[in-house]
Amino acid sequence: MWPSAFEYERPETLADALQVLAADDDAKALAGGHSLLPAMKLRLAEHGNLIDLGRLQELKGITTIRDGGLKIGALTTHAEIAASPEIRGTCRALSMAAGLVGDQQVRNWGTIGGNLAHADPASDPTTVILASEGTINLASTDGERSVAAEDFFIDLFTVDLMPGELITSIELPNLSTYQSAYVKMAHPASRYAIVGVCAVLQRDGDTCTRARIAVGGATVKPVRATGAEEALVGSSLDAAALDTAADALKADIEEWLIGDMSYSEEYRQDMAGVYLKRAVRAALG
Ligand SMILES: Cc1cc2nc3c(=O)[nH]c(=O)nc-3n(C[C@H](O)[C@H](O)[C@H](O)COP(=O)(O)OP(=O)(O)OC[C@H]3O[C@@H](n4cnc5c(N)ncnc54)[C@H](O)[C@@H]3O)c2cc1C
Repeated sequence: MWPSAFEYERPETLADALQVLAADDDAKALAGGHSLLPAMKLRLAEHGNLIDLGRLQELKGITTIRDGGLKIGALTTHAEIAASPEIRGTCRALSMAAGLVGDQQVRNWGTIGGNLAHADPASDPTTVILASEGTINLASTDGERSVAAEDFFIDLFTVDLMPGELITSIELPNLSTYQSAYVKMAHPASRYAIVGVCAVLQRDGDTCTRARIAVGGATVKPVRATGAEEALVGSSLDAAALDTAADALKADIEEWLIGDMSYSEEYRQDMAGVYLKRAVRAALG
């Protein structure tokens, strides 16, 4: 299938890209193209001018920032994230999620910035960025701003991104004292998440002192499971605690559930409880 005709520009700097996006209502940012181009080919989206971000050095690279956190450029591909020793050392769950995105070709082209901007409910990285309490850095011709992941994901395919604004990077706090994991039930054809759960845990001896749990795939947007977190904190993460947390998680995600003809809301809700237990066990290694 062919998309409708469009112009194509490839600016050299972030400032130039932002100028074009601000000046042209029909302009749309193009990163890896693995969500935008399929949507255009299916005529679910039409844009008269694609602004290829590929040459913007300002949006590339993984760097360590204050307090040992990480800054990940928006153009960083899933494959680069999966292979990064810095990310594996700071947030193992993000390495795991990136390595589970689609197939090798999708991971080689798809970027974390494009993934978060698109906010597909079946995305993997979005769930981890929420559980990790990441921050999304944005820029436009009006200036820069930063949004906590908790506020960034608003609804189905809807994020706090204004027209003409670009994601420049994603920041993660230093999670090196946490144990984390991301697990998912993957769609057998696309590998998108039917259910994905991220667990970020801190322990003192056998006792869980902090827990951050997020769910995606089963929900219209990534959702924090605060009831499950409360059930885990103070426990030794034994089987009884996991049962209680799984029940709490199912209530946490009730209002955000999504289903389709293959995988109903009820099925995904039940599986989310199962995958919470797997995520906690995977985090503990
Ligand atoms: C077969 C297949 C399987 C897939 N499986 C999975 C999977 O299992 N898990 C998963 O999470 N994803 C999956 N994906 C999606 C993949 O991760 C996409 O690459 C990703 O969602 C979009 O990233 P992109 O760089 O390709 O963005 P693009 O397709 O180029 O852009 C997507 C949207 O984001 C906007 N955008 C891009 N970059 C920026 C930026 N820096 N700032 C602001 N807006 C921006 C674009 O304007 C567009 O609206 C799959 C895709 C395919 C084709």
